[in-house]
Amino acid sequence: MSVADYMTACLHDPDHGYYATRPGLGADGDFITAPHVSQMFGELLGLWAAEVWTRLGRPARVRLAELGPGDGTMIGDVLRAARTAPGFLEAAEVWLVETSEPLRAAQAAAAPTARWVRSVAELPTDAPVIILANEFLDCLPIRQWVRGDLDWMERRVGLGSDGALAFLAGGDVRESSEALVGLGQAVGALVTRASGAALFIDYGRDAPGEGDTLQALRGHARENPLANPGVADLTAHVDFPAFLAAAAGAGALASPIRGQGDFLRALGVETRAAVLVRARPDRAGVIARQLDRLVAPDQMGVLFKAACVHSPGLAPPGLEVAA
Ligand code: SAH
Repeated sequence: MSVADYMTACLHDPDHGYYATRPGLGADGDFITAPHVSQMFGELLGLWAAEVWTRLGRPARVRLAELGPGDGTMIGDVLRAARTAPGFLEAAEVWLVETSEPLRAAQAAAAPTARWVRSVAELPTDAPVIILANEFLDCLPIRQWVRGDLDWMERRVGLGSDGALAFLAGGDVRESSEALVGLGQAVGALVTRASGAALFIDYGRDAPGEGDTLQALRGHARENPLANPGVADLTAHVDFPAFLAAAAGAGALASPIRGQGDFLRALGVETRAAVLVRARPDRAGVIARQLDRLVAPDQMGVLFKAACVHSPGLAPPGLEVAA
């Protein structure tokens, strides 16, 4: 099978898939994401969403959607911070795009008024949308290609001579993702039709590149992606240029791609950290370490990137086009 079919089965098989049956987010699970590092992350995205709403002219009705909300930590922080923008939550309807049943249950506790759909295509288009997605694009299935004698050949997963799962071709790897391009088109069409903005934060590249980026994480350790199908989380580096080009092809505008560190600093993460320290001086060391983890170049600050797909006439906060 293709690497894309392998990823889809590992993540979404109804009986054995990782997200369908045993998603393990957080310190006790398999991987930690920015919302688990610090409440500051979701709070700043909540303020980002409120500022987009203001720049849209404070519409009386807006859809606030999150794609792949995991255990709901981020939407909880987003909604708490968004309360500080008068009128925003009264206007906002919360929609969550999620396929995992066990995770929907966790999300319901953090966002009691939310509605759920399984794909972006199911989001209504009759009101402006503000979309947030952290570490969502990296679980979209990728295909891999290896250079053959004459042409690129698809790298497939099959059984090796010892009967264990194996990659059936070796050599230099290139990746592509129909799912990523399809999502870019869907989001681009949605924000063009409904107006609004969609923010994506993920680990990945800001320029076209080559290499095998398929990665499995279990219990916070990397392992061979073929070792424990359905038991480990499987992801790949996001090809941001391909994603944004697909959105632009559907009529939307694409922001510059910025490192997570620069983006969060532009939104005021250092000020937010100082406020938290003033409220809890005993936690100054912990908060400083959390801030460092989110923004430092050798932590999440550069590998993780932020980019926005939006309707014409809107400047997304922290991702305005450089003058
Ligand atoms: N955003 C969260 C969780 C990231 S894990 C955080 O930052 O902590 C990826 C999330 O995307 C999970 O909620 C998973 O169930 C969901 N997901 C993965 N593939 C999906 C798909 N194709 N459609 C909808 N949700 C998906």
